[in-house]
Formats: sequence, C-alpha cells, structure tokens
Amino acid sequence: MYGTRAVIHLDRLKRNFERIRKRIGNRLICMPVKADAYGHGASPLAAAGILNGADFLAVARVQEGAELRRAGIAARILLLSPPVPEELGALAAYRLTPLISDRDLAGAINAAAEKAGIILPAHIKIDTGMGRIGCRPEEAADLACCIHSLKSLKYEGTATHLARADSPAPEAVEATKIQIARFKSALEVIRRAGANPGIVHAANSGAVLLHEDAYFDMVRPGILLYGYPPSEELADSPEPIMELETTVVFIKNVKKGEALSYGGTWIAPKDTAVGTLPIGYGDGLPRQISGAMRVIIRGISYPLAGRICMDQCMVDLGSADLVKRWDKVTVFGGEGSLTAADIALQAHTIPYEITCNINKRVPRVYVS
Ligand SMILES: *Cc1c(COP(=O)(O)O)cnc(C)c1O
Repeated sequence: MYGTRAVIHLDRLKRNFERIRKRIGNRLICMPVKADAYGHGASPLAAAGILNGADFLAVARVQEGAELRRAGIAARILLLSPPVPEELGALAAYRLTPLISDRDLAGAINAAAEKAGIILPAHIKIDTGMGRIGCRPEEAADLACCIHSLKSLKYEGTATHLARADSPAPEAVEATKIQIARFKSALEVIRRAGANPGIVHAANSGAVLLHEDAYFDMVRPGILLYGYPPSEELADSPEPIMELETTVVFIKNVKKGEALSYGGTWIAPKDTAVGTLPIGYGDGLPRQISGAMRVIIRGISYPLAGRICMDQCMVDLGSADLVKRWDKVTVFGGEGSLTAADIALQAHTIPYEITCNINKRVPRVYVS
C-alpha cells in the first residue's frame, strides 16, 4: 500500500487542453507552470503540456525557468515576474523570455544578453488595470521602440493581465472590457509608432471562459488546465488532475465521551472506531478545515475527527467495521471525494492555493 501521495492524471490534463483548444481555435497556448505547476510538478507537467500542444510555458521566477531547462525542456519560457539584478545572468544563460515593464529593466536585460553573446526575445507588459507590473498604456509605444532599438533584445510580443476576468458579475465584465479596450488602444499606438507588437496575449483562465475578445494571438490559462474553474461562479467542468490520497495507518476503538486530538475539541458522540491518516498541515492540508473535512474510503465518505495535526489526522469510521488498516483514502480529487475547490471554500481561499500548498513532502506520481 502507498502512503500519502499526489497522483497526477495526465489523461485529464489532455482533456483539459482539448476543452480549451475547442474554444480558442488555432491560437497559441502558453501553459503557466509557475509555483511548481500549481503544485503538480513543474518539469513533468511542462513536458506533458508540450505533448498536448502548449506553445509557450510560463514561470514567475528565473529559478523556475532554470529548473525546466536543466530538465531538458527546450520550449519558449515566459518569465512573468520581474527578475532582480542577480538573476539576469541566469535569465540570459537559460534563455528565458522576459516580460518587460520599463526602460531600465530593458537596458539591464539587454546588457546581460549582450554579455552572454545572444539575442533574447522579449515581450512588453502593459498595465491596463491590474496594478501589479507593466508600463502605463501611454508609455507602451516608447517602451516598444526602446526594446526594438536594443541590439541584444528582439521585440517578440505584447501582454497585459486581467484582474477581474473570472467573474460574470456585470461590474467585473465591464472592468474587463475597459482593460481590453485600453490594451487595444496601446497596441494601436505601438503599431502607429512603426513597431510590430508581435504575439499579443492577455487571457488567463477567466478570460478563456468569459472574454473571447481577449484571446488575441495566445492565451495563458493556468487553473483551467489543472482542472478547476477560476472562480466559484463559473461552473465549467474541467477535470481536476491532482488526486491526493493517503492510507489508514492505525485503527482503534474509542468510547462515547472520549476526546481526541489537540485541544480535545472532538468528543466521541458514541462508541466508534477511529482511523489515523499520515497526512496533516505539514503536507499542506489546511488546518482550518478540520471540522468540515471528509475523506473517501472504499467508496464511503467519512468525517475527520478533531484537529488536523502537522503529520497526521484522525477519521471517524463509525461502528460498521468496513475499513481495514492500509485501505486507500482519497482526500481530494478522486471519485466521489471532495475537490480542491470544496476545500478552498471551507478554508476561505481558492483552489490554486490548495494545490500549490501540497508541498514537497508529498511524492507526485504521474499516470496516464
Ligand atoms: C498565473 C498567471 C496566469 C494564469 O492564471 P489562471 O488564473 O491560472 O488562468 C496568466 N497570466 C499571468 C500573468 C499570470 O501570472
């Protein structure tokens, strides 16, 4: 029997790619594999993504891009977040494609590329309302011309990021339309200045579902590929590709009135059997869902009993004696079980954070 592990279903990834492909036609797909592919494992997911038609990969840190290159991945890799000066040598050496928001960074990256003796493709990032990184729309033409003029950079693409594309609420749709309009006028100004904006991209998962006018030349859906809609309000049905499982390592009988786990918050309402599972918040299972968490064993759903500990948690198995030691336990993402989205709801967060937080103590196993 296996202990705690995350089974990553690559067949489901393939179908999630197909669902997106149906919507976007023959546009390019950039697959975000930042944060260890949202917790799924960056290199294996990047390799699987390329097999399924990803044209670009995207990371947030130079280190993440370097890891992909060292794993032998040759595809184009967008660096979504700004690098720090110490990382510029590696950025060039590993041939990452930066998103550039200002002239200073353009100059510094150009210098690093020149030093490495290469010409680095670069995209410009325009802030149309996210307020995170990016030049202002009115500065875009100037930045485009700057990059165009730098000898060791090649102006290859133009991007923006949408802040509210995952919501169908009228005010969010309106805000997204304003962002798209600002982006389009910046593209127009770039063209009028005589530069070619190249590969134009804006759409995250929310926009792939709700904003066809944000598709442009390439889309960047992350969470949809990993199998969750980007917000609760969107009931599209991608398939969660991570199945978190564990096993029962210990079973004991507990008498009515006995308390268990830290704080003694759970008191047996009747005589029952309690199983112990080798998974806890030290693996990334959020502690605050203790009271709401259920797991599946042999097709039946059982509630957790008491607080989730760092390395273990307990499950109330009732008196029916249906569960055996070493039985497989599905925590989320399996047949009949909770999903990371259900857990996120209880933990007041988003499924992104649930899968990202399943940490490196949990082995990933890839199946197709
Ligand atoms: C993470 C990220 C994405 C993907 O977002 P999802 O909501 O997972 O689709 C797209 N673009 C940028 C710039 C990002 O940082």
